[in-house]
Amino acid sequence: MKYFFKHLHTVNIHRWEVFKLCCKVGIPFRGLIHDLSKYSFEEFSESVKYYKVSKGAYSPLLACKKREGYSKAWLHHKGRNKHHFEYWYDYAAPTPAPIIPFKYMLEMICDRIAASKTYNRGHYTDKCAIDYFYKEEKNIKMNENLKKFLEEVLIRLSKEGESFLTKKNIYKLYLKYTKKAH
Ligand SMILES: [Zn+2]
Repeated sequence: MKYFFKHLHTVNIHRWEVFKLCCKVGIPFRGLIHDLSKYSFEEFSESVKYYKVSKGAYSPLLACKKREGYSKAWLHHKGRNKHHFEYWYDYAAPTPAPIIPFKYMLEMICDRIAASKTYNRGHYTDKCAIDYFYKEEKNIKMNENLKKFLEEVLIRLSKEGESFLTKKNIYKLYLKYTKKAH
């Protein structure tokens, strides 16, 4: 029961951080509905079960993957949430990693920054999101142009702070990297 409320708190805190960032970049509705599937039974129950392994320091779904080989909650989540590049990836499509529409890329950026804030509580800086990006970069199955776009947004955040995070600034970079790809 303790972990039920602990996980609920983590989800709420994360969604609140995402919502604030989404408002900043002009997509409040995306912020409002962000990650709602985490309240579904499939996702919530697994997270509660593995919360005691991860202790809230990282995603309980990762703990589940390590123990069981896969996470049903994650498979449920990525199939329904367009802000994850895994939603769009399809090895059998002509372009397995397509260009993801701008609003979902914006939501993804907000999600990544918010996750850095949630898991680096107390020692978060504007550099955390780019550091995390470099750590997992080779595993990101996202369109190469979008990867460069995401990298530049996070570099600019690390150098200029959150004042860089406006829809206009980010859209300019999105066009810079996706024009070539279309
Ligand atoms: Zn999500």
